[in-house]
Amino acid sequence: MSLPDSLLDALHAIFGDALQTGAAERLAYAYDDSRLNVLPDAVVFPTGHAQVEALVRACREHRVPLVARGRGTNTTGAAVPVNGGVVASFERMDRILRIDPANRVAVVEPGVLNGDLQAALAEHGFFWPPDPGSAAWCSVGGNLACNAAGPRTVKYGSPRENTFGLRAVAGTGEGFRCGGQTTKQATGYDLTRLLIGSEGTLALVTEATLKLTPMPGGIRTLRATYADVGAAAQAVARIMAQPVTPCALEFMDAVALQLARDHAGEVVPLAGAMLMIEVDGDEATLAMAVEAVSRAASGAGLLELRAAADPAEAQALWAARKALSPAQRAISTDKINEDVVVPVSQVPALVEAVRGLSERYALPIVTFGHAGNGNLHVNLLPRDAGERERAGACLAEVFERVIALGGTLSGEHGIGLTKRPFMPLALEPATLDLMRGIKRAFDPDGILNPGKVLP
Ligand SMILES: Cc1cc2nc3c(=O)[nH]c(=O)nc-3n(C[C@H](O)[C@H](O)[C@H](O)COP(=O)(O)OP(=O)(O)OC[C@H]3O[C@@H](n4cnc5c(N)ncnc54)[C@H](O)[C@@H]3O)c2cc1C
Repeated sequence: MSLPDSLLDALHAIFGDALQTGAAERLAYAYDDSRLNVLPDAVVFPTGHAQVEALVRACREHRVPLVARGRGTNTTGAAVPVNGGVVASFERMDRILRIDPANRVAVVEPGVLNGDLQAALAEHGFFWPPDPGSAAWCSVGGNLACNAAGPRTVKYGSPRENTFGLRAVAGTGEGFRCGGQTTKQATGYDLTRLLIGSEGTLALVTEATLKLTPMPGGIRTLRATYADVGAAAQAVARIMAQPVTPCALEFMDAVALQLARDHAGEVVPLAGAMLMIEVDGDEATLAMAVEAVSRAASGAGLLELRAAADPAEAQALWAARKALSPAQRAISTDKINEDVVVPVSQVPALVEAVRGLSERYALPIVTFGHAGNGNLHVNLLPRDAGERERAGACLAEVFERVIALGGTLSGEHGIGLTKRPFMPLALEPATLDLMRGIKRAFDPDGILNPGKVLP
């Protein structure tokens, strides 16, 4: 589609030079980490809330799609403007407006990078818990829109548990605030949690009031290897059933360990499964925390349990997990990166099912991830045209198994474009209808990020 002159005039009046329609700029904002791409017709760079209101009103008047964009690192096509239209890149709304240690609150614009926020908070002795591996490159707005998370979620929660309030603009062009800045809120519907994870389909976020956590005094790292996945899963259940909640509880299956070892050598142990465990807290209490978690990690099937004596050894213990990304890239440039979730007790059944599918489809699949949440990255690694063709059917079966085990499609990456066809597998028709009703209330003309999330 090309934009009507009247809309281009309106956008020019709102944005001046911050409206771009050149081929190079359009191409640069056509893609995300899903590797899908569709050209937008224009890109704008808002610098304030009022501009975003004017932008949404102008797009609504012309029924033109409007897609919010942080830094384009999501993996599901959520930021790809599939129907063309206007991309609003929030990269120039990147100010930290206020850090308020007394109330454990930070107020930020959506374009601030997660890593930059963490660095600024550290100076005050605080952090914001969501810690995606992409922290250095992704925006808080993108984190909120995807409910993106990482290893710390097992102890500290995701953006939904770490956000007090939002300022946003609905698809009507109406600006509004929801939530607040207090630790308790019981004032009507929780629109803050609703907008978090809505992937820019309900409203554009222009400001967020985030809940901060004091930085722990210290951290300790342990690595446990097990004879098989079942033994590791039982250890996870024991660890989660005692009072010391780890701040990371990461899992790798035998295939992932072998792949990492092929890439990085003997620093990676060989085992049926491995857990990386971290505990944090006061220096004075850490030894007791390590002891409690070590006790819980020990049991039938444990091969080796090592606690790092210092940061250098901790880094060495993490070597296997860190080697996994480059190892996967080395065998496939077309990695299909999923983030399914199952109840922790079903982790062995899922790993077993994935192993069966890998054999049946003759397709390499590695399984690793956030064991404490039952949130596993099931990564399909097709190496040639035949494997790429089989990967689609295999993925559909992975999702079917996950749902049959009482799980769900995504724990942190979201739905976007790529998982949208599978939504009816995960949610009942009545639930999807309620979601469609919510979408209509926020965005009656369907201009915000069309083609995403809801089938
Ligand atoms: C190397 C790598 C590692 C990663 N590791 C992790 C990980 O550990 N955990 C994890 O959860 N994810 C991870 N991701 C995925 C990705 O980084 C996250 O989804 C991140 O939150 C996306 O942020 P972004 O700024 O790039 O947003 P984008 O990709 O630009 O956008 C994502 C979604 O947010 C919407 N959006 C952006 N800004 C706004 C706004 N202001 N208002 C409304 N909607 C908005 C977009 O429309 C889109 O739907 C990783 C990605 C890469 C490339």
